[in-house]
Amino acid sequence: MSSVAAAQAAAEKAGAAQSGATKDERAKTMLEVRDLSSGYGEVQILWDVSLDVRQGEVVALIGANGAGKSTILNSLSGLVPIASGTAVFGTLDLTSAKPSTIVARGLVQVPEGREILGRQTVLENLELATWSRRDRAAARREVEAMMGRFPILGERRALRASALSGGERQLLAIARGLLARPKLLLLDEPSLGLAPQMVDEVFAAIEEIHRDGTTILLVEQNALRALEIADRAYVLETGQIQLTGGGQDLLHNPAVRQAYLGG
Ligand code: ATP
Repeated sequence: MSSVAAAQAAAEKAGAAQSGATKDERAKTMLEVRDLSSGYGEVQILWDVSLDVRQGEVVALIGANGAGKSTILNSLSGLVPIASGTAVFGTLDLTSAKPSTIVARGLVQVPEGREILGRQTVLENLELATWSRRDRAAARREVEAMMGRFPILGERRALRASALSGGERQLLAIARGLLARPKLLLLDEPSLGLAPQMVDEVFAAIEEIHRDGTTILLVEQNALRALEIADRAYVLETGQIQLTGGGQDLLHNPAVRQAYLGG
């Protein structure tokens, strides 16, 4: 048993972090993952991962580099095949659904590395995120509203995305994700590589998106920032969930502090 798992056992004994008790156990489960295993070809990366996300929550998934956090998100988005276990979003079976269906049903991933189109302008990147809408006038209004919500994107609308700073690109990636009208937004390392001030801005944007009613599953190496805003969190170690609990509980858990928060 790892030190983190031992801490979990101790916490449960003390009645503190029983199965990650949430603020509202009655809230509707949006995403239910049970014993999910997946990987790349012959190489298994995830081992029997189980997690839930309930409507209205911010759930954080933290863990070291290479623990498999992105692989979880990619498995849920239909980008990495699920080898065994179950994953259900609402009524949609994620083990067999196509990526386009998954997005259309409201499970939207903002990938690590941002994946924006560097040669296109900010405006074009946003417009492309609405390409499937029949009502083009309404789509244009939504794009304008998004640039109002993130004024820096409005100011940069005619610039090529490749000219943006790392933080601005992250905001553009998030804005693109929001234009897909997520019910559950999967954010993969939104603060990766950003200067501290931009980290603040990106986290402020995440909190605002949450306040506006979007449920969020947040993957982060920046465990401190993630736990600060999370209702609940899961700690992933080498492809297995080792610990789960309330965000504040884990923030004050000695083993988590030692392993992920610098003591
Ligand atoms: P990071 O913060 O570094 O992205 P992570 O926790 O998100 O870490 P993953 O990206 O899910 O980790 O990677 C988990 C493991 O899977 C790593 O050992 C990685 O090398 C491996 N891996 C990731 N993508 C692929 C791929 N396309 N093909 C083969 N192995 C991969």
